[in-house]
Amino acid sequence: MDRNEYAIGLDLGGTKILAGLIDGRGQIVSQKQLPTSSDDGEQAVINRVLAAIEAVMADASVEGNQVRGVGIASAGVIDSAKKEVIFASNLGWRNVPIGQLIHERFGLPAYLMNDANASAVAEWMWGAGKGTQNMIYVTVSTGVGAGIICNGRLLTGNDGSAGEFGHISIDWKGPICRCGNRGCLENYSSGTAIENMARTKIANRDSSFSGSLLEGHEALTAKQIGEAALQGDRFSIGILKQAGFYLGIGATNLIHLFNPELLVFGGGVMNSAPVILEEIEKGVTAHCIPGLANQVRVELNQLGTESGVMGAAGLLFSTQERSGKYPFL
Ligand SMILES: [Zn+2]
Repeated sequence: MDRNEYAIGLDLGGTKILAGLIDGRGQIVSQKQLPTSSDDGEQAVINRVLAAIEAVMADASVEGNQVRGVGIASAGVIDSAKKEVIFASNLGWRNVPIGQLIHERFGLPAYLMNDANASAVAEWMWGAGKGTQNMIYVTVSTGVGAGIICNGRLLTGNDGSAGEFGHISIDWKGPICRCGNRGCLENYSSGTAIENMARTKIANRDSSFSGSLLEGHEALTAKQIGEAALQGDRFSIGILKQAGFYLGIGATNLIHLFNPELLVFGGGVMNSAPVILEEIEKGVTAHCIPGLANQVRVELNQLGTESGVMGAAGLLFSTQERSGKYPFL
């Protein structure tokens, strides 16, 4: 049996823990999902993580010596060098050396990356970015994040934190962000921002709200706004266009910095894609240095909710790992 046949990917989220055993073609051979239930406490969540890893190996009758290692995609603040989750409110974790704990339990190499970087790797290896050397994946959901593939490798930065796209400032006089900076992109184009925009417009008696599909709805979630936009709701389309406009400004900055051939957009907010993607493309065309804009394609992601698991494991099959260039393994 080939010792390097499989890798394990783990997606640590606030709602669920998803583990997957992946082969070298990106196929998920077995997977196990457990609820995070962070209210049960730190140790309980750690135990579920270990149980999920054990389950995917047992279900496929795979032994540890057939597995290259375990890649962990985590939300929150992570330290890839220490293989530690520093702080993740949705997991209820502070300074949990999860990489080390997995290594001790299974005797496998383990490494940590943020969830946007993991999805970027998956799209690069097996999704919309297959075959590219320079691409950027942007996720637009509750927050905004990115993973940057530059010259055929994942750009990690010094400690694995590169790609905090949601926290580039697009207005130095803008509102204070949860990160402490002012005018961060995330406050203009995330799912949360879309919901806030809707509430502000309604409070200001925006004329397009009367007769809107959303009139009478109390929650006004980004999902509802996206669905209404897809049905042609003028009020919702207006809000998404605004979010897309700001993403276009941000995307322009990315193109100027990294000269990618492809920008891939994913995340829950992109479910109402046509109107947002159109605005992003318009923004890129309008604001980019001439010559750079027409080289870059803007596309939607191809992989689904397993992209975190696939990418976390995927790095172990990439040329980057084989050439020893992923510094946190
Ligand atoms: Zn910020």
